[in-house]
Amino acid sequence: MKTEDKRIICNCCGKVIGEKAGIPREEFLHVEKEWGYFSGKDGEIQEFDICETCYDKWVKNFQIPVRTIEVTEFV
Ligand SMILES: [Zn+2]
Repeated sequence: MKTEDKRIICNCCGKVIGEKAGIPREEFLHVEKEWGYFSGKDGEIQEFDICETCYDKWVKNFQIPVRTIEVTEFV
């Protein structure tokens, strides 16, 4: 059993985000994509985790900014 398997690591910068068994220390983006017939990766599942710092840098490069929706708590 490798210890690396239990850790959530940012694929972009290599920072340890948290432990899978416990509660992650910070928010992160998890992406899992099963590529289909029309891609060059048919039948492959790819996944990665991105920490918030790298996420912010990543979305800044988008031509169209991400849509932000304020979450309102109804009491
Ligand atoms: Zn990162």
